[in-house]
Amino acid sequence: MSGTNRREWLKMGVALTAGGLGEGAPVCAQIRSPEGAGKMKLELAEFQPTSMLHVPETRVARARFALIDIHTHLSFRAKSRQGVGLGEQLEFLATPESVLPVMDRKNIRMMVNLTGSSGKGLNEAIAKYQKPYPGRFVTFTEPLWDQSNRADYGRIQADAIENAKQVGARGLKVLKTLGLYLRERVTEGPLLSIDDRRFDSMWEACGSLQMPVAIHVSDPEAFFLPTDRFNERFEELNNHPDWSFHGKDFPSNAELLDARNRVLARHPKTHFILLHVGNDAENLSYVSDCLDRFPNTSVELGARIGELGRQPKASRKFFDRYQDRILFGTDAVPNGTDTPQQIFGDSLYEIYFRFLETEDEYFDYAPAPVPPQGRWRIYGIGLPETILRKVYCENAARLLNLSV
Ligand SMILES: [Zn+2]
Repeated sequence: MSGTNRREWLKMGVALTAGGLGEGAPVCAQIRSPEGAGKMKLELAEFQPTSMLHVPETRVARARFALIDIHTHLSFRAKSRQGVGLGEQLEFLATPESVLPVMDRKNIRMMVNLTGSSGKGLNEAIAKYQKPYPGRFVTFTEPLWDQSNRADYGRIQADAIENAKQVGARGLKVLKTLGLYLRERVTEGPLLSIDDRRFDSMWEACGSLQMPVAIHVSDPEAFFLPTDRFNERFEELNNHPDWSFHGKDFPSNAELLDARNRVLARHPKTHFILLHVGNDAENLSYVSDCLDRFPNTSVELGARIGELGRQPKASRKFFDRYQDRILFGTDAVPNGTDTPQQIFGDSLYEIYFRFLETEDEYFDYAPAPVPPQGRWRIYGIGLPETILRKVYCENAARLLNLSV
């Protein structure tokens, strides 16, 4: 049977059998062909296999030690255009009173709200979380992206950092805006390189004021490849086409990381928290090289336990070796729906605790019916107490100059 004929034949011969498979059965199509008698077709999105493994399942309802979540988003800039946050105004995603009960249940001593804007927005964020609950919330400021094409940008940006420190911000957060969205004329013209000289005064101000820079550069390696059947994150990219950085005028993942590394080298007195496991959790040997080359860096775990947990042996060694430079973070966003691996709440934290504290095998890395960042499951790395204490709290407390 030729290909074309066979396809035609299949189209005609396909019968929906969902009703015949009983309650809750996935939508399948039975193929009535001589070769494939009894075979069914199943949409990838409908496939939700239940693991038949009989292995220990440990619920870790509460972190073994009080922790600092260094990567959360309780607010975002209210206005943005083409991926660039504009203005000072913030939109708040949750009240402190609505997140504190979860924090208390999970043993979260402190949450760091990274996206605290600048100027009036920053003042508001500090007044909302940090002032009424000192010791529970910390706020970071953000660059003035929409002024980056001004001739005096270097000076006003450095002044803004100094002002942010005075009003209570503890660090600077740089979103992937830099490298992937910010352009010569803010939203127009060629993309700016991460190591563009106009930002030197910003990095230097952070260094001299001892404000760590939490930096997100690039994205998962698969986001730079075509969204096709060979892409291990096909479903995620298919659900969020705007997350693909394949083609157009985007630099490659390697070019983005190289440009970041030039910034790290040029500003040795500035501390950089390389978010999302240095933005290359898929390649821990590369991240290890970065940590070795740049003593002014640490890494954070947010939204990457899916990567770490599928390479538990390499991860365990990584935690051993860099136990003083790994910070607990989740990238949690209250009331989100788009990204199950980031929805602030009990179940999210329990997965992180299970990954770090137990040696459970083959469990979901996100509270979702289908693994949202690729179809695999993860393995716990059972860290010893000394490392757990450092990762949960001590490393971040030292960096933020907090006595917890
Ligand atoms: Zn984040």
